[in-house]
Amino acid sequence: EAKFPKPARTRLIAVANQKGGVGKTTSTVNLAAALAQNGARVLVIDMDPQGNCSTALGVRHESGEPSVYDVLEGRMSIAEVKRQCPDLSSLDVVPASIDLSGAELEVAQFENRNNLLNEAVQQFLRESNEHFDYVFVDCPPSLGLLVINAMCAVREMLIPIQAEYYALEGLGQLINTIGLVQEHFNPILTVSTMMVTMFDKRTLLSREVYNEVKSHYPSIVLDTTIPRTVKISEAPSFNKSVISYDPRGMGAIAYGEAALEIARRSPVVLDAIASRMKEA
Ligand code: ADP
Ligand code: MG
Repeated sequence: EAKFPKPARTRLIAVANQKGGVGKTTSTVNLAAALAQNGARVLVIDMDPQGNCSTALGVRHESGEPSVYDVLEGRMSIAEVKRQCPDLSSLDVVPASIDLSGAELEVAQFENRNNLLNEAVQQFLRESNEHFDYVFVDCPPSLGLLVINAMCAVREMLIPIQAEYYALEGLGQLINTIGLVQEHFNPILTVSTMMVTMFDKRTLLSREVYNEVKSHYPSIVLDTTIPRTVKISEAPSFNKSVISYDPRGMGAIAYGEAALEIARRSPVVLDAIASRMKEA
Protein backbone atom coordinates (compact mmCIF):
# COMPACT_ATOMS: atom_id res chain seq x y z
CA GLU A 1 0.00 0.00 0.00
CA ALA A 2 1.51 3.33 -1.10
CA LYS A 3 1.83 5.90 1.65
CA PHE A 4 1.75 9.65 1.19
CA PRO A 5 3.93 12.01 3.22
CA LYS A 6 2.20 12.98 6.47
CA PRO A 7 1.92 16.53 7.75
CA ALA A 8 3.78 17.30 10.98
CA ARG A 9 0.60 18.75 12.42
CA THR A 10 -3.06 18.56 11.62
CA ARG A 11 -4.00 20.28 8.36
CA LEU A 12 -7.42 21.90 8.53
CA ILE A 13 -8.94 22.46 5.09
CA ALA A 14 -12.34 23.93 4.17
CA VAL A 15 -13.68 23.18 0.70
CA ALA A 16 -15.69 26.18 -0.42
CA ASN A 17 -17.21 27.95 -3.39
CA GLN A 18 -20.52 29.79 -3.10
CA LYS A 19 -21.56 28.35 -6.47
CA GLY A 20 -23.46 25.09 -6.25
CA GLY A 21 -22.55 22.07 -8.34
CA VAL A 22 -18.86 22.85 -8.86
CA GLY A 23 -17.59 19.69 -7.15
CA LYS A 24 -17.09 20.75 -3.51
CA THR A 25 -18.68 17.66 -2.01
CA THR A 26 -17.26 15.27 -4.59
CA SER A 27 -13.78 16.68 -4.01
CA THR A 28 -14.05 16.62 -0.21
CA VAL A 29 -15.22 13.00 -0.23
CA ASN A 30 -12.66 11.72 -2.71
CA LEU A 31 -9.62 13.65 -1.50
CA ALA A 32 -10.39 12.57 2.07
CA ALA A 33 -10.83 8.96 0.95
CA ALA A 34 -7.63 9.01 -1.12
CA LEU A 35 -5.61 10.44 1.79
CA ALA A 36 -7.14 7.94 4.24
CA GLN A 37 -6.40 5.09 1.88
CA ASN A 38 -2.78 6.18 1.73
CA GLY A 39 -2.15 6.12 5.43
CA ALA A 40 -3.58 9.38 6.74
CA ARG A 41 -6.03 9.68 9.65
CA VAL A 42 -8.81 11.92 8.36
CA LEU A 43 -11.92 13.62 9.73
CA VAL A 44 -14.54 15.05 7.37
CA ILE A 45 -17.07 17.56 8.70
CA ASP A 46 -20.21 17.97 6.62
CA MET A 47 -21.44 21.57 6.96
CA ASP A 48 -24.09 21.40 4.23
CA PRO A 49 -27.70 20.76 5.38
CA GLN A 50 -28.11 18.68 2.20
CA GLY A 51 -25.81 16.09 3.80
CA ASN A 52 -24.46 14.92 0.42
CA CYS A 53 -21.03 14.38 1.88
CA SER A 54 -22.48 12.17 4.63
CA THR A 55 -24.41 10.17 2.02
CA ALA A 56 -21.38 9.68 -0.20
CA LEU A 57 -19.29 8.48 2.74
CA GLY A 58 -21.98 6.05 3.85
CA VAL A 59 -22.92 7.51 7.23
CA ARG A 60 -26.49 7.97 8.48
CA HIS A 61 -27.80 11.50 8.56
CA GLU A 62 -31.56 11.42 9.05
CA SER A 63 -33.19 14.36 10.76
CA GLY A 64 -32.89 13.93 14.52
CA GLU A 65 -29.68 11.84 14.37
CA PRO A 66 -26.67 13.31 16.21
CA SER A 67 -24.94 15.63 13.74
CA VAL A 68 -22.89 18.78 13.29
CA TYR A 69 -26.06 20.71 14.18
CA ASP A 70 -25.80 19.44 17.77
CA VAL A 71 -22.11 20.34 17.78
CA LEU A 72 -22.71 23.94 16.64
CA GLU A 73 -25.44 24.42 19.20
CA GLY A 74 -23.21 23.06 21.97
CA ARG A 75 -25.30 20.01 22.86
CA MET A 76 -22.73 17.42 21.77
CA SER A 77 -19.03 17.18 20.98
CA ILE A 78 -17.45 16.12 17.70
CA ALA A 79 -16.23 12.96 19.46
CA GLU A 80 -19.84 12.08 20.30
CA VAL A 81 -21.35 12.59 16.86
CA LYS A 82 -18.62 11.41 14.49
CA ARG A 83 -19.01 8.07 12.74
CA GLN A 84 -16.56 5.81 10.99
CA CYS A 85 -16.82 5.58 7.22
CA PRO A 86 -17.80 1.93 6.56
CA ASP A 87 -15.28 1.57 3.71
CA LEU A 88 -12.25 3.17 5.38
CA SER A 89 -11.44 2.68 9.05
CA SER A 90 -9.11 5.71 9.13
CA LEU A 91 -11.82 8.08 7.89
CA ASP A 92 -14.39 9.55 10.30
CA VAL A 93 -17.34 11.73 9.36
CA VAL A 94 -19.30 14.33 11.29
CA PRO A 95 -22.64 14.07 9.49
CA ALA A 96 -25.02 16.88 8.61
CA SER A 97 -28.77 16.57 8.33
CA ILE A 98 -31.53 18.86 7.18
CA ASP A 99 -31.76 20.04 10.82
CA LEU A 100 -28.70 22.18 10.06
CA SER A 101 -30.77 24.43 7.79
CA GLY A 102 -32.19 26.14 10.89
CA ALA A 103 -28.84 26.66 12.56
CA GLU A 104 -27.80 29.89 10.85
CA LEU A 105 -30.81 31.72 12.31
CA GLU A 106 -30.68 29.95 15.66
CA VAL A 107 -27.06 30.86 16.39
CA ALA A 108 -27.16 34.34 14.81
CA GLN A 109 -27.39 36.09 18.17
CA PHE A 110 -24.73 33.97 19.93
CA GLU A 111 -21.77 36.17 20.78
CA ASN A 112 -19.26 33.54 19.52
CA ARG A 113 -21.41 32.72 16.46
CA ASN A 114 -18.44 32.75 14.03
CA ASN A 115 -16.34 30.43 16.17
CA LEU A 116 -18.75 27.64 17.06
CA LEU A 117 -17.12 25.13 14.73
CA ASN A 118 -13.60 26.34 15.53
CA GLU A 119 -14.13 25.83 19.26
CA ALA A 120 -15.57 22.35 18.71
CA VAL A 121 -12.72 21.31 16.37
CA GLN A 122 -10.04 22.66 18.71
CA GLN A 123 -11.61 20.85 21.66
CA PHE A 124 -11.77 17.65 19.64
CA LEU A 125 -8.13 17.82 18.51
CA ARG A 126 -7.01 18.65 22.05
CA GLU A 127 -8.95 15.87 23.75
CA SER A 128 -8.79 13.10 21.15
CA ASN A 129 -6.31 10.38 22.04
CA GLU A 130 -5.63 9.88 18.34
CA HIS A 131 -3.69 12.22 16.08
CA PHE A 132 -5.56 13.40 12.99
CA ASP A 133 -3.56 14.32 9.90
CA TYR A 134 -6.36 16.09 8.04
CA VAL A 135 -9.67 17.71 8.89
CA PHE A 136 -11.81 18.59 5.86
CA VAL A 137 -14.91 20.78 6.03
CA ASP A 138 -17.41 20.52 3.17
CA CYS A 139 -19.21 23.87 2.84
CA PRO A 140 -22.71 24.66 1.56
CA PRO A 141 -23.02 26.84 -1.58
CA SER A 142 -23.28 30.21 0.16
CA LEU A 143 -21.22 32.77 2.01
CA GLY A 144 -23.42 32.62 5.12
CA LEU A 145 -22.72 31.91 8.77
CA LEU A 146 -22.05 28.20 8.24
CA VAL A 147 -19.32 29.01 5.73
CA ILE A 148 -17.89 31.74 7.98
CA ASN A 149 -17.73 29.12 10.73
CA ALA A 150 -15.82 26.82 8.40
CA MET A 151 -13.43 29.64 7.45
CA CYS A 152 -12.81 30.40 11.13
CA ALA A 153 -12.10 26.76 11.96
CA VAL A 154 -9.38 26.06 9.35
CA ARG A 155 -6.05 27.34 8.09
CA GLU A 156 -6.49 26.39 4.45
CA MET A 157 -9.20 26.99 1.89
CA LEU A 158 -9.52 24.63 -1.06
CA ILE A 159 -11.56 26.06 -3.92
CA PRO A 160 -12.87 23.68 -6.58
CA ILE A 161 -13.40 25.40 -9.91
CA GLN A 162 -15.62 23.81 -12.50
CA ALA A 163 -14.22 23.89 -16.03
CA GLU A 164 -17.14 25.77 -17.62
CA TYR A 165 -17.83 29.09 -19.26
CA TYR A 166 -18.60 31.10 -16.10
CA ALA A 167 -15.88 29.37 -14.06
CA LEU A 168 -14.25 32.49 -12.65
CA GLU A 169 -17.46 34.40 -12.03
CA GLY A 170 -17.90 34.86 -8.30
CA LEU A 171 -14.31 33.88 -7.53
CA GLY A 172 -13.40 37.50 -6.74
CA GLN A 173 -16.24 37.70 -4.23
CA LEU A 174 -15.15 34.46 -2.59
CA ILE A 175 -11.51 35.58 -2.32
CA ASN A 176 -12.74 38.89 -0.94
CA THR A 177 -14.81 37.18 1.77
CA ILE A 178 -11.85 34.97 2.68
CA GLY A 179 -9.75 38.16 2.94
CA LEU A 180 -12.29 39.74 5.28
CA VAL A 181 -12.42 36.66 7.50
CA GLN A 182 -8.62 36.63 7.57
CA GLU A 183 -8.49 40.31 8.48
CA HIS A 184 -11.13 40.23 11.21
CA PHE A 185 -11.35 36.72 12.62
CA ASN A 186 -8.68 34.27 11.46
CA PRO A 187 -5.27 35.75 10.54
CA ILE A 188 -3.78 32.36 9.58
CA LEU A 189 -6.37 31.63 6.87
CA THR A 190 -5.05 31.15 3.30
CA VAL A 191 -6.26 29.85 -0.02
CA SER A 192 -3.81 26.98 -0.26
CA THR A 193 -5.37 25.07 -3.14
CA MET A 194 -7.51 25.50 -6.22
CA MET A 195 -8.49 22.51 -8.26
CA VAL A 196 -10.17 22.38 -11.65
CA THR A 197 -13.02 19.86 -11.69
CA MET A 198 -15.19 18.28 -14.39
CA PHE A 199 -12.38 18.83 -16.83
CA ASP A 200 -12.96 17.57 -20.38
CA LYS A 201 -9.65 17.30 -22.16
CA ARG A 202 -11.34 17.21 -25.56
CA THR A 203 -12.68 20.73 -25.21
CA LEU A 204 -10.76 23.92 -25.75
CA LEU A 205 -12.92 25.56 -23.08
CA SER A 206 -11.64 23.25 -20.34
CA ARG A 207 -8.04 24.03 -21.22
CA GLU A 208 -8.79 27.74 -21.41
CA VAL A 209 -10.36 27.72 -17.96
CA TYR A 210 -7.37 25.82 -16.56
CA ASN A 211 -4.88 28.19 -18.19
CA GLU A 212 -6.72 31.25 -16.98
CA VAL A 213 -6.96 30.07 -13.36
CA LYS A 214 -3.32 28.96 -13.52
CA SER A 215 -2.17 32.34 -14.83
CA HIS A 216 -3.95 34.17 -11.98
CA TYR A 217 -2.95 31.75 -9.20
CA PRO A 218 0.14 29.88 -10.43
CA SER A 219 1.31 28.42 -7.11
CA ILE A 220 -2.16 27.61 -5.80
CA VAL A 221 -3.72 25.63 -8.66
CA LEU A 222 -3.00 21.90 -8.66
CA ASP A 223 -1.39 20.45 -11.79
CA THR A 224 -3.88 17.61 -11.54
CA THR A 225 -7.32 18.24 -12.99
CA ILE A 226 -10.35 16.09 -12.21
CA PRO A 227 -11.98 14.63 -15.33
CA ARG A 228 -15.72 14.47 -15.79
CA THR A 229 -16.56 10.76 -15.48
CA VAL A 230 -19.75 8.77 -15.03
CA LYS A 231 -18.20 6.70 -12.20
CA ILE A 232 -17.52 9.83 -10.13
CA SER A 233 -21.16 10.86 -10.41
CA GLU A 234 -22.49 7.32 -9.78
CA ALA A 235 -20.44 6.55 -6.67
CA PRO A 236 -22.55 8.59 -4.17
CA SER A 237 -25.68 6.60 -5.02
CA PHE A 238 -23.83 3.51 -3.73
CA ASN A 239 -22.78 5.45 -0.59
CA LYS A 240 -19.19 5.23 -1.73
CA SER A 241 -16.30 7.42 -2.69
CA VAL A 242 -15.05 6.75 -6.22
CA ILE A 243 -11.88 5.50 -4.52
CA SER A 244 -13.89 2.54 -3.15
CA TYR A 245 -16.45 2.28 -5.96
CA ASP A 246 -14.10 2.24 -8.94
CA PRO A 247 -10.56 2.11 -7.54
CA ARG A 248 -8.81 1.66 -10.89
CA GLY A 249 -10.87 4.11 -12.87
CA MET A 250 -9.85 7.53 -14.14
CA GLY A 251 -11.73 9.36 -11.41
CA ALA A 252 -10.05 7.49 -8.55
CA ILE A 253 -6.65 7.91 -10.19
CA ALA A 254 -7.15 11.67 -10.64
CA TYR A 255 -8.34 12.19 -7.06
CA GLY A 256 -5.41 10.06 -5.87
CA GLU A 257 -2.96 12.26 -7.78
CA ALA A 258 -4.62 15.44 -6.52
CA ALA A 259 -4.45 14.11 -2.95
CA LEU A 260 -0.75 13.33 -3.36
CA GLU A 261 -0.10 16.86 -4.65
CA ILE A 262 -1.91 18.25 -1.62
CA ALA A 263 0.01 15.94 0.73
CA ARG A 264 3.30 17.14 -0.81
CA ARG A 265 2.53 20.79 -0.10
CA SER A 266 4.94 21.26 2.75
CA PRO A 267 4.57 23.94 5.43
CA VAL A 268 7.23 25.92 3.52
CA VAL A 269 5.15 26.01 0.36
CA LEU A 270 2.03 26.83 2.35
CA ASP A 271 3.80 29.72 4.11
CA ALA A 272 5.02 31.07 0.76
CA ILE A 273 1.48 30.98 -0.59
CA ALA A 274 0.21 32.72 2.55
CA SER A 275 2.76 35.54 2.41
CA ARG A 276 2.13 36.08 -1.31
CA MET A 277 -1.58 36.35 -0.54
CA LYS A 278 -0.93 38.96 2.15
CA GLU A 279 1.07 41.07 -0.35
CA ALA A 280 -1.69 40.90 -2.98
P1 ADP B 1 -21.14 20.94 -4.93
O1 ADP B 1 -20.85 20.24 -3.65
O2 ADP B 1 -20.15 22.01 -5.25
O3 ADP B 1 -22.55 21.44 -5.00
P2 ADP B 1 -21.02 18.30 -6.11
O4 ADP B 1 -19.72 17.75 -5.69
O5 ADP B 1 -22.24 17.84 -5.37
O6 ADP B 1 -20.98 19.88 -6.13
O7 ADP B 1 -21.18 18.00 -7.67
C1 ADP B 1 -22.32 18.41 -8.37
C2 ADP B 1 -22.79 17.29 -9.29
O8 ADP B 1 -21.79 17.02 -10.25
C3 ADP B 1 -23.04 15.99 -8.55
O9 ADP B 1 -24.13 15.34 -9.14
C4 ADP B 1 -21.76 15.21 -8.77
O10 ADP B 1 -21.97 13.81 -8.75
C5 ADP B 1 -21.35 15.68 -10.16
N1 ADP B 1 -19.90 15.66 -10.33
C6 ADP B 1 -18.99 16.29 -9.57
N2 ADP B 1 -17.74 16.09 -10.05
C7 ADP B 1 -17.88 15.30 -11.14
C8 ADP B 1 -16.96 14.71 -12.07
N3 ADP B 1 -15.65 14.93 -12.00
N4 ADP B 1 -17.47 13.95 -13.06
C9 ADP B 1 -18.81 13.74 -13.17
N5 ADP B 1 -19.71 14.25 -12.33
C10 ADP B 1 -19.26 15.02 -11.32
MG1 MG C 1 -22.01 20.05 -1.90
